[in-house]
Amino acid sequence: MSDLLRRHRAVMPAWMPLYYDEPIEIVRGKGNRVVDASGKSYLDFFAGILTNMIGYDVPEVREAVERQLATGVVHTSTAYLLRGQVELAEKIARLSGIENAKVFFVNSGTEANETALLLATYARGSDQILAMRQSYHGRSFGAISVTGNRSWKNSPLSPFNVHFLHGTDRHLPQFRGMSDAEYIAACVEDLRHVLATATAPDVAALIAEPIQGVGGFTMPPDGLYAAYKEVLDEQGILFISDEVQTGWGRTGTAFFGIHNHGVTPDIMTFAKGLGNGFAVGGVVARGDLMDGLPATGLSTFGGNPIAMAAANATLDYVLDHDLQANAHRTGTLIIEGLRLAAARLPVVGDVRGRGLMFAVELVDPATGAPAPALAGRFMEETRAAGLLVGKGGLYGNAIRMAPPLTLTEDEAREGLRIIVATLEKINAEAA
Ligand code: PLP
Repeated sequence: MSDLLRRHRAVMPAWMPLYYDEPIEIVRGKGNRVVDASGKSYLDFFAGILTNMIGYDVPEVREAVERQLATGVVHTSTAYLLRGQVELAEKIARLSGIENAKVFFVNSGTEANETALLLATYARGSDQILAMRQSYHGRSFGAISVTGNRSWKNSPLSPFNVHFLHGTDRHLPQFRGMSDAEYIAACVEDLRHVLATATAPDVAALIAEPIQGVGGFTMPPDGLYAAYKEVLDEQGILFISDEVQTGWGRTGTAFFGIHNHGVTPDIMTFAKGLGNGFAVGGVVARGDLMDGLPATGLSTFGGNPIAMAAANATLDYVLDHDLQANAHRTGTLIIEGLRLAAARLPVVGDVRGRGLMFAVELVDPATGAPAPALAGRFMEETRAAGLLVGKGGLYGNAIRMAPPLTLTEDEAREGLRIIVATLEKINAEAA
């Protein structure tokens, strides 16, 4: 065990996950690669943890932050006018597609979801929330309570009365063999049943990730959320889209993940990649919902000038270089390559994804049962080959990949080669 790992274990919580048998200390980054303390270089297929959305050491972001630092002001107060905040809010309001949208900045995805739930429960005068099975929304009481994934729930306490819906659980026996349309119809019937029998009459909102992140990049069929929205609209129930992982063009086919479903939500939350490593989170919502809160409220550090400088530069870079199109192009190349490999490798139970957000599930080739130990093997093998990926999913057997949106076609091919070679090796061993 390295000295740093020993010291980490001594002073940091046991429940903080660390990837790899011998965890990596990243000391430098450039482009889409990082370097560890031993000098080994890795192509980063997880963008940090979807944080380094446009790669490492991006001059435009560094210079924007340095310009702000040169003013001598790191942060004063969000009670003063801050130009960077207004400029970023204008861009996000426009991109959201939400009518008369207003934006509030915080520092994390958890805080963003807390704010969204606050807006919805206040507006509707209800503590009833609908959420999705297998979801992950953060680690505060409110966010945990709408998280439908036991491995991330550290508390049974809840400020809300939460009802979990089907929609991302096609693996369950009752849904096997269904077409998309049949599955959506079954999920809608379940939603109507929940509303008719399980909830109090007034439900505040549904909160959902367009593609579940921690849940293993699980994808509901396109159109599911449009079908849900129709039912919700009948009762005035609000729709909160958690875009913490799916925003900013990552899915390739839409700027925000929920737009792939043809849905304009009432509220969206975001964080992770927007600051390209600097902490930025926020909520964009219908103006009437945002303005509706009765008391004053600010976030001391939410929307601070350094975070806004980084976020404005990052978002401009994404738009100026049309990185959504790049995510579509490079992501499609990888996903198609993975599907071809999966067709001949029984150790791959599933390939799924959209744009630069894709996953493979590792299973026991004989039984098809989830094989988390093989996912661990995959992590160690790809690490040795110089590729960083993520792990997760309900059964811990999903390899999650979300490279920076700046990934080049050559890097896409390089990563794909390593992944396929590793799958072949594990398949041969497990057969
Ligand atoms: N929502 C989703 C979809 C996430 O993936 C995460 C973090 O992984 C969060 C919310 C919580 O964000 P944070 O860790 O910034 O609080």
